[in-house]
Amino acid sequence: MARRTEEERLAREEARAARHRARLEKHALPCPHCGKSVLDHMTRCPYCGGTLVPAGYAPMDENKKKKIRTVCYAVGTVVAVVIILLIIFLR
Ligand SMILES: [Zn+2]
Repeated sequence: MARRTEEERLAREEARAARHRARLEKHALPCPHCGKSVLDHMTRCPYCGGTLVPAGYAPMDENKKKKIRTVCYAVGTVVAVVIILLIIFLR
């Protein structure tokens, strides 16, 4: 009885590992520098250290980055001022 459940557990683990491998293999592609298999989201090859371009990745435009940063600073400042005013006036 115990032996049978141990076998079932091993079979389930093996099936899970096979599903995991299948999921990873969908995202595997050869490194353009060394040819070893790497994942498509990696920015650097773990084997040769070569730079990789992740699939579907485009670096953000500098102007857009500046705009987002400016808006975040403005919103952060307003929130900080409101919190400070609330602390001062709600005493
Ligand atoms: Zn490589």
